[in-house]
Amino acid sequence: MDSIAGAGKGAAGTAMPSSTQLTLLDLHDINLPDAAPRAALETITSGPVPDLAAYDLIVAGLSGKDAHAMLDLLTTQAHRVGVFDRLYTVHADMGLMEWPQVHHRGRTYLCNRELAVATARHYGIPAHRHIETRRVVTAPNGTRRPQSLLEQIAMWGKFPDAARRYCTSDSKVTKIRAALTPLVRYHRAQLGRAVRILNVTGIRAEESTKRATRPTYSASYANSHRHQDEYHPAHHLSTAEVHTIVDSSGADHHWAYDSEPGARDWSGMSRLSCSLCVLGNKADNILAARRRPRLAALYAEVERAIGHDFKLAMPMSRILELTNEPAGQNPGVILDENGPDFIALETAVRAQLAAPARLRASTEFTTVTPNCRSCRTC
Ligand code: SF4
Repeated sequence: MDSIAGAGKGAAGTAMPSSTQLTLLDLHDINLPDAAPRAALETITSGPVPDLAAYDLIVAGLSGKDAHAMLDLLTTQAHRVGVFDRLYTVHADMGLMEWPQVHHRGRTYLCNRELAVATARHYGIPAHRHIETRRVVTAPNGTRRPQSLLEQIAMWGKFPDAARRYCTSDSKVTKIRAALTPLVRYHRAQLGRAVRILNVTGIRAEESTKRATRPTYSASYANSHRHQDEYHPAHHLSTAEVHTIVDSSGADHHWAYDSEPGARDWSGMSRLSCSLCVLGNKADNILAARRRPRLAALYAEVERAIGHDFKLAMPMSRILELTNEPAGQNPGVILDENGPDFIALETAVRAQLAAPARLRASTEFTTVTPNCRSCRTC
């Protein structure tokens, strides 16, 4: 896989664009800053589902089983109308907040980012059409580095929640949008009009009453550079149907979904993305804390230091108490998390707790080739 090398602010002109892997799961939940009023905006094509051929870019967000099933359906549709070459996959990398790689019973199981890359490859998406993007911050000495969500929470002194979901907006929505900017610049220069983007997610009606009311196809926002519509081809699928599509695809699902890595029984986490999620259900958060006790302890340390609970109804201190009760699900695997990456995470979080410093944030994303941002000839 390409290394993370591009910088959102640095990509300019009509140079051939970058490629990343993002989670677009939540784009529809956020009102983007320059969004036109939705009531005034119509989708590019009429009808309950889009005509894929009417879009310049089809961008599928990858993370988890629902997105996997969505990509299965979407690639079939794209091949059928002859626009597979317009299909990109993207993943917003949350670093160690997401489920990491694990070694279990002599086998290595991929982290969420690695699995998204493998899933895209399985469906024939070439490396240059798979985009990885992430949040980075600039230190006072000018050094840029990734910033984890937990460090950001320590910096701001508040956990996100359903009403203030800055985790999604700051680490996913804006990062994906920035990563697409070089592509938009390139295509806008070629087309002489706003680029038509179809943002495709794995959102399903069964997930929540709010998501059940979402239309499968809707307009999102438009400006002089881009018109973006939303499409949720897996919206009607049940969880069982998602499992069937993923199981029969021939591509692996993430180990965290299973009772233990390799079990392939869908008896672990019900959802993926951040292991410990402020919007996650109780069973998932307890199982995640059992599997990642060192990460859960760090969340609890932040909770104590900032005086704000991980979740109002279920603080991390309570989740940790529940992990010690004899009843409940066997974690199947317990991560040591004693490597340099995790220690760096702890150090960064504790530095923010000791002396919160508002660091300037930007975006870093993968590029097709190292020269793409500078040649400006294609
Ligand atoms: S904490 Fe939950 S809602 Fe927030 S970015 Fe992570 S997975 Fe999404």
